[in-house]
Amino acid sequence: MKTALVLGAGGFIGSHMVKRLKSERYWVRGVDLKHPEFSRHQADEFIIGDLRDKSFVNRVVEYKGQMGNFFNLIPYKMISSFDEIYQFAADMGGAGFIFTGENDAEIMHNSATINLNLLDAIKKTYDMGRKNTKVFYSSSACVYPQEIQEETNNPGLREEDAYPANPDSEYGWEKLFSERLYLTFMRNHGIPVRVARYHNIYGPERTWEGGREKAPAAICRKVASVSSGGTIECWGDGEQTRSFLYIDDCIEATRRLMESNCTEVINIGSEEMVTINRLIRLAANAAGKEIDVEHVSGPLGVRGRNSQNDRIREVLDWDYNVPLSDGIHRTYAWVESQMVVRETAQDLQTA
Ligand code: NAD
Repeated sequence: MKTALVLGAGGFIGSHMVKRLKSERYWVRGVDLKHPEFSRHQADEFIIGDLRDKSFVNRVVEYKGQMGNFFNLIPYKMISSFDEIYQFAADMGGAGFIFTGENDAEIMHNSATINLNLLDAIKKTYDMGRKNTKVFYSSSACVYPQEIQEETNNPGLREEDAYPANPDSEYGWEKLFSERLYLTFMRNHGIPVRVARYHNIYGPERTWEGGREKAPAAICRKVASVSSGGTIECWGDGEQTRSFLYIDDCIEATRRLMESNCTEVINIGSEEMVTINRLIRLAANAAGKEIDVEHVSGPLGVRGRNSQNDRIREVLDWDYNVPLSDGIHRTYAWVESQMVVRETAQDLQTA
C-alpha cells in the first residue's frame, strides 16, 4: 500500500487531495492547524499542529505504520518514510488578504518557515538512508511579473515568463523563493520534487466568507445574498481578466504530475480567460437572477492573467475538462446551500 502525507489537509485543495488519495487506496496522514470546515476528513490519521514548529515537522514526516501511532513512541527500526508528500499548507487568501499589504510579513514568514522546515525534515530522513519520499509543492500564478499582466487580453503566461522576476505581491515572492528552494533540495540532496503553479482553483468546499475567500466563491455569495433585480458590489471596473480551474481538474493534474518524471515547474490552470463582469454573469445565470453591479474601489491585483498550457499538454497529456459555466453552477449551488445551513442555524439560535 502506498503512503502519503498531506500538509494543509484541512484546507480546500488539501482536503480534496486526501479524498482522491483514499479513493486510490493510499494510507494517508493529514496535517493542519484545523480540521476541514465543510466535511469530515477522510484521512487514516489527522494531526492538528503547527508546521512552523520544526520539531513537529520532524515527527510529522515519520510514518509509523497503518495503525497511525503519531503520538506513540515506537522502536526506531519500525519508523519509515512516506512515499509521497503533498505540501499545500500556506498563509493564503484572496485579493482582500494578499493585496492590502497588512498581512505581508506573516504571509512571507509563515509560508517560508513551513517550506524550510519540511525540506529540512525530509533531508534528515534521506541522510538516515530512507530515500523513498517524493514531494509535491503548490506554487502559484502569482509568481509571474506584473509588467506582463497589465493588459486585459493576456495571451497566457508561459512557465519561462516568470523571469526576470517581479511578482505583484509578497505572496508571489514567497512562492518564487520556495519553488527555488524545493529545486535546490532536488539538485543538491537528490530529493525528487514536483512543482506546479496553480491558477485560481475554485469549487465546492472552499472558504466563501470571512475575508480569505477568492473571487468565484465571493461572487457566488454576493449573488446568493440578493433577490433578482438586486445589486452587488464588484472591486474595480470588472474588466480585469483571470482564468479559473475547477478543483477536480486541479487534483487530476496534480496526481499526473506526481506520477510523472517531470521535474520542471509547470502551470496547472485553465485557458478559459474571462472578465470578472463575465464571472458575475455566470453566477447570476446559475442563480437564475437578474443582477446589477456597482463598481467600487478595492484591492485588485494585476489587470489580466491567463494560463498557457502548452507544456503540461505536451508533458502530461493533461487538459482542463470542466467549463467555467459548469463549475460556477456547481460552486453556486454549494455556496447557496451553505448559506441556507447558516441561516437555519441562526434561526434555531434565536428561536
Ligand atoms: P487553504 O487556505 O484552503 O489551505 C491551506 C491550509 O494550510 C489551511 O487549511 C491552513 O490552516 C493550513 N496552514 C496554514 N498555516 C499552517 C501551519 N502553520 N501549520 C499547519 N497548517 C497550516 O488554501 P488552498 O486553496 O487549499 O491552497 C493550497 C495551496 O495551493 C497553498 O499553498 C496555496 O498557496 C496554493 N495555491 C492555491 C491557489 C488557489 O486558487 N486555491 C492558487 C495558487 C496556489
